[in-house]
Amino acid sequence: MCDQKSIYIHIPFCVKKCVYCDFFSRTDLSLIPIYIHCLQKEIEKKPGAKENINTIYFGGGTPSLLSIRDVARILQTIGQRFKVSRDVEITFEVNPGTIDFDYLAELKKTGINRLSIGVQSFNDDKLKFLGRIHTAEQAEQTVEDAWAAGFNNISMDFIYGLPFETHAIWIQDLEKAIRMAPSHLSCYMLTIEPGTPLGEKCEKGLVNPLGSSVLSAMFKKTATLLSHNKYEHYEISNFSNAGQNRSRHNSNYWNMTPYYGFGPAAHSYDGKIRSWNLKNLETYIKDLDSGMLPVKGQEILTCEQEMMEMIMLRLRTLEGLDIHIFQARFQVSFKDFFKDVLAVILDQDLGRFKGNCFALTLEGKIRLDSIVEGFAKKIL
Ligand code: SF4
Repeated sequence: MCDQKSIYIHIPFCVKKCVYCDFFSRTDLSLIPIYIHCLQKEIEKKPGAKENINTIYFGGGTPSLLSIRDVARILQTIGQRFKVSRDVEITFEVNPGTIDFDYLAELKKTGINRLSIGVQSFNDDKLKFLGRIHTAEQAEQTVEDAWAAGFNNISMDFIYGLPFETHAIWIQDLEKAIRMAPSHLSCYMLTIEPGTPLGEKCEKGLVNPLGSSVLSAMFKKTATLLSHNKYEHYEISNFSNAGQNRSRHNSNYWNMTPYYGFGPAAHSYDGKIRSWNLKNLETYIKDLDSGMLPVKGQEILTCEQEMMEMIMLRLRTLEGLDIHIFQARFQVSFKDFFKDVLAVILDQDLGRFKGNCFALTLEGKIRLDSIVEGFAKKIL
């Protein structure tokens, strides 16, 4: 088993909920101080040895709502409880509507060495539709401030495929992003989640999502335009500038490396057992105040679940699934076991073998869900 682990810190607070978002977060910011106190307790109480940590990720919610002092405190608690590698990657998500240059300059001093900026778009109509709290100008300023503050590993997040979005609108966003030359780009297709305000509007027929053929064409255009501009398409939604600065934290997930998740609704995985915390802030605080860990449940992954997990995660990546690793882990030949499924995929050129690895083509990535379903039918 890998002796390096990752840590995910969930910061479940937002100034305002965006209409498409189903992440667990709250808008009552007065709870932040008590939350930080409980988060530190959870980190301190986590059982286990003093493992090596090579990536830490502050996600949310909105981590940039924390004071610099709170960020430093959390990192200090992690440093006391775990053995943090010298070359640790520490990512921090920032929302352009919450910070300025001074904040970023101070943040840099805490040891944060990678920023993930939630730009989402440089188009104010898109930002307004999504319910973001910032303008395009603020997003641009944040990226400039981040460079000026000395960050040299900067990722920008974008969302595309909004109901009214044309190719031209999306390409404008992408071209502007390319001109700003971030180290990394994450481009997510808008998903309409049930239970969100956007999901409800769609259900009532007030908003019509784009059709799958338009979305597929946008996905392909994203991949080709970014590839032509030297961004390596190393995972379905992720691109690294000149093949440098892939997200090490997310790559750990796609490699099934164990991780600890702290905060309400956070998940942990030790290589065999997956556990998850309560998705309730009050109960999270109450449990930790009374000396209990806020774990809601856990499951030992069956061999079939692990197999599915490996297929689902690895087929998202550029390198794909290593059939030798698969065989060593499950004592089954990937080629033999999935002979029929693979025949269909290969016949339609949706996937290819390259050396020891099986990876999807661009066309295959568009049809990832149905391909994974084909493997699932064989396994489960
Ligand atoms: S800021 Fe991020 S986490 Fe918060 S509501 Fe918007 S998308 Fe969700």
